Amino acid sequence: MKPFQIYNSLHRAVEEFVPLRPGIVTFYSCGPTVYLPQHLGNMRAYVFVDTLRRALRFNGYDVRHVMNITDVGHMTSDADAGEDKIEKTARAQGKSPREVADFYIAQFKRDCASLNIELPPAAPAGDHPAPPQSALCRATDNIDAMIAVIGRIVANGYGYVTPSGVYFDVEKWRGPGGAGRLARQSLAEQHAGQRLEHSPDKKSPHDFALWVLNQPHHLMQWDSPWGRGYPGWHIECSAMSMKYLGETLDLHSGGLDHIPVHHENEIAQSESATGHPFARYFVHNAFLVGMEGAKISKSAGRFPVLDDLIAAGINPLAFRVLCLGAKYRSELAFSIDSVRAAEKNIDYLNEFARNLNETALSSEQDADWTAEYAERFCEALNNDLNTPQALATVLEMVAQAYRLRDQRIWNTLQNFDDVLGLDLKKKLFESSTGLEPPEISRLVKEREEARERKDFARSDELRNQLDAMGYLVKDTKKGSVVTAKRSAT
Ligand SMILES: [Zn+2]
Repeated sequence: MKPFQIYNSLHRAVEEFVPLRPGIVTFYSCGPTVYLPQHLGNMRAYVFVDTLRRALRFNGYDVRHVMNITDVGHMTSDADAGEDKIEKTARAQGKSPREVADFYIAQFKRDCASLNIELPPAAPAGDHPAPPQSALCRATDNIDAMIAVIGRIVANGYGYVTPSGVYFDVEKWRGPGGAGRLARQSLAEQHAGQRLEHSPDKKSPHDFALWVLNQPHHLMQWDSPWGRGYPGWHIECSAMSMKYLGETLDLHSGGLDHIPVHHENEIAQSESATGHPFARYFVHNAFLVGMEGAKISKSAGRFPVLDDLIAAGINPLAFRVLCLGAKYRSELAFSIDSVRAAEKNIDYLNEFARNLNETALSSEQDADWTAEYAERFCEALNNDLNTPQALATVLEMVAQAYRLRDQRIWNTLQNFDDVLGLDLKKKLFESSTGLEPPEISRLVKEREEARERKDFARSDELRNQLDAMGYLVKDTKKGSVVTAKRSAT
C-alpha cells in the first residue's frame, strides 16, 4: 500500500506522513468552545478529525488522540478583547459557567455520537500520575498544567508580568519584522484591519495574554504565582497537548481560521517553553459555506445545527456523507438539498447491508473482483485523504455487486466502513428482514457485546431469551444474524 500522504500547512505541500516513533501517532485537535450548540460548520471539522484518525488507524497506526474542550478564556474576539464566551452565556441564561459548559459538552457528545464520530475518552479532572494517552480534556481541569507552561515561558524570557496579566512577547519571539510560521505574515499583515486591544501594559499591541489578572468581574478565577486570574485562550492547547502527548506532536488539526492567530500563538508558546518543535504536521479543514441561506433553522440569525436535520426527518449520517463527498481542504456548500442527495447514498449502502445473504456474511474470502476496489480505495484515502474518491469507489463496488449478482464483498465493505464511519454493520442487527422490534435488536447487540468480552454464560442466557421470544441467532464471522422462527410468526 502506498504510504499515507497529507497536506502539511507548515510547508504548504502534500507530504508523506512519517511519525516520530514507528507505528505511533500523537494527534492533537483543537476542540469546541462550549457556550452554544455546535453548528454544522463546526461539526464538519469534527467529521474531518474523525475520518483522519480512522484513516491513520486503517494504515496500522496506534493513534493517540487528544481533543480539548474550551470552557474558559475564549473571548468574543479571538484576540484578547471582549467578554469570556462561556461567562457571557452564563450571565444571559442565569447559570454558572460550569453548568453552561456541562450542558453544551453533553450536546456536543450527543451530536458526535449521531455522526458516528469516535471521541477520545473523557480525561479525569486534575492531576493523574499516568495521564491517559487519548483524552477529551477540559481547560478548567488543567489550570495547573497551563500555569506550569506559562512559568517556563516567563523563565525563558518570552513572557513578562504586568498588573493586568502575563503577556507573550511576540516580537522577541519572532525577531524584528519576523513572520509567523504558518500564515507567513508579518505582525502588521496578520492584524491588518483588526482593532487590537492596546493595554498600556503590553510592550506591543501584538502581544497576547497568557494569564489575565485583575479582572474582578470574571467569574472563573484561580490562584497562580502571578496572582489570582484566568488563562488566555491559546495556552490551554500548548499545555494539554504537552501533558498528554509530549513536547513534540506528530499531527495537529484545526480549522483554517485557526492559522493566523490561534495556531501561530500555540507554536510560539510551546516552542519558547520547550525549545523543541511543537508539531510536525499541521492540517486544516476548510469551511462549510452557504449555511446563512439554508432555510432550516427556525430562529433567525442562527446557523443550522444537527438537531435541525434530525427534526427535518433526515438521517444525521447523511451529513457525514455530505462531508465525505468533498475534499477536506475545499469549501463545501451546504443546502438542505445537498444533504438529502447525500442521504440517498447512505440509504443505498444500508439497503445493501440489510439484504446481505448468509453466504456473503459468513464467507471468509470476498470475491476476487473486489481486490481492484480495495486498491482504489486505499489509493484515494492515502492521497491526502481523498474521501470523495474513496466514497465513490465504495458506491461503485456495491453497484458492481448488484450487477454481477455477487454479494461477496462484506469483509471489504466493512474495512472501508471502518474509515467512512457509516455504521453499516449496525444494519446487520436489523438483519435479514429488517423488521425485528427494537427490543430484539437490543438483545442481539447486548449478546454480541457479551461475546466480545467472552462472557459466554451471559451470551447463552441471551440466546435462550431470544429463542423464547421466537428469534434464532446465528453467529457468523462478522457478527450475529437474527431470524424470526417460522413458528413465531
Ligand atoms: Zn487549539
